[in-house]
Amino acid sequence: MPQRTDEITSTDPATGEEIGRLAVTSPEEVADAVTRGREAFQSWRKTTFTERKRLVMAAREVILSEMDEIALLISRESGKPVAEALSMEIAPVLDLMQHFARNAERLLKPRRIGIGLYALMGRSSKMVYHPLGVVGIIPAWNYPFSIPLGEAVMALMAGNTVVIKPSELTPFIGLKIGEIFAKAGFPVDAVQVVCGAGDTGAALVEAAPDKIMFTGSVATGKRIAVAAAKNLTSTVLELGGKDPMIVFEDANLDLAAGAAVWGAFCNAGQSCSSVERLYVHESVAKELTAKIVERTKLLKVGGSGDDVSLGAMSSERQVAIVEDHVAQFIADGARIETGGVRESDTLFFGPTVISGANNEMRAMQEETFGPTLPIATFKTEEEAIRLANDSEFGLTASVWTKDYAKGGRVAEQIEAGSVCVNEVLYTHGIGQTPWGGFKNSGRGRTHGTEGLMELVQPQHIHVNHLALLPDAWWMPYSSTAVETFRGFATKFASGSLFKTAMLMPQLFRRIFELRGKK
Ligand code: NAD
Repeated sequence: MPQRTDEITSTDPATGEEIGRLAVTSPEEVADAVTRGREAFQSWRKTTFTERKRLVMAAREVILSEMDEIALLISRESGKPVAEALSMEIAPVLDLMQHFARNAERLLKPRRIGIGLYALMGRSSKMVYHPLGVVGIIPAWNYPFSIPLGEAVMALMAGNTVVIKPSELTPFIGLKIGEIFAKAGFPVDAVQVVCGAGDTGAALVEAAPDKIMFTGSVATGKRIAVAAAKNLTSTVLELGGKDPMIVFEDANLDLAAGAAVWGAFCNAGQSCSSVERLYVHESVAKELTAKIVERTKLLKVGGSGDDVSLGAMSSERQVAIVEDHVAQFIADGARIETGGVRESDTLFFGPTVISGANNEMRAMQEETFGPTLPIATFKTEEEAIRLANDSEFGLTASVWTKDYAKGGRVAEQIEAGSVCVNEVLYTHGIGQTPWGGFKNSGRGRTHGTEGLMELVQPQHIHVNHLALLPDAWWMPYSSTAVETFRGFATKFASGSLFKTAMLMPQLFRRIFELRGKK
């Protein structure tokens, strides 16, 4: 059937079969969705945390009761094995849901702020956190269930309503998310899903929600930042990565090899935090490479059964990038140890281990987003850090060593939002920990307390508990005023109680001067 411009077709990347077609939400309908979300916000913001928690926990029950069906849908529409739909999407998001359902109230509790010597003047300050309004969520296709669902849960627990625009490659998973919230009993329009490709996402940004949570490429992230700036809509941008794994000579090489294989090839390498560059100390490079190749050759690519490790890649466009990078590595003199080819006429690409890579190669700089693991070597700790940081990206990184002091020391010198020591990739699955990038890998955070704070408007409340006297800095000014302000600068602003005490006579002179002027 020919493709109409007002509909999108979802296909199974493993078979090319059509899954179904959906009407594209028009820009006017997207704007209406944001308006309705704003109306729904007026009552949703007044719900108690207990009520929000009840509904989120009910949504968890819906997922648990339909878990196998949801896992199959994720696998069918995104190409990943059912094993990964369960381990990398459903399990982590269920954990995130219980965490924010149970803890959002505590995390968003009004908080007293220490205001130093101002407290001596009978003042106090506290922070309160208000919901923002409507949060627009624009995710990528690679974790089409856990990313938008997790962000929606955080936004809802903070008192916002949400409009989700799923990726055009995974629209039915997006609709499923809407259905889960509806079945759980969320109010109408608290969670809405709009369908379409980039134009629909652009319409959502144009409709000026109160926040945009975007996950996708650097190029689209920049486009969204520009469009959002027109309305001063703030954005969280979760963008690409080229994540390094550093293996020191004292690392447990068996564990490092297993981690590299999973970190590079899970989700067919289509994770923002995939291991895309492996730097190993030259003295153990041969041994580690052999262990990695041996493990890689055991992996089952495609087909059916619980033992499938790599599914289909998401799209022809993605496979084309992988083919280009593999060809580039070969042209630049690197060596394909295993893999390097796709199964003809399919979107299955064999897991590919490449040795002899270095940072001068283009494919070591651009995000591949596919099942390739290029390996380069280093001689010293300083060189390893320099090579890892030699990238426009900075999402995650990992350091492998038995020396934990060295691991921590190196980790803190890596320019990346999350750095693991003796672990790879998986911390997006820990809802308690913040996620986000340095450099071109993004702006802002999702997950963790920092991620929750992106979804609220912080308000500072300041109270003068001794509102009996005028403040010394009020008008009209005078010579006494100027002398007092000099004292503020030299004594009060030092933060020293002792010096401030010396200012008291001057301060009282000034206050009485002002009182006399009343
Ligand atoms: P993409 O940028 O092509 O698309 C992402 C989303 O943006 C889709 O829903 C798309 O329809 C929408 N979109 C496209 N143009 C738009 C526009 N002008 N305005 C508004 N929305 C628009 O990215 P992709 O190919 O879907 O995803 C792959 C990228 O996502 C990779 O670079 C990957 O690293 C990144 N990613 C990052 C994270 C993270 O947490 N940092 C997580 C997953 C994926």
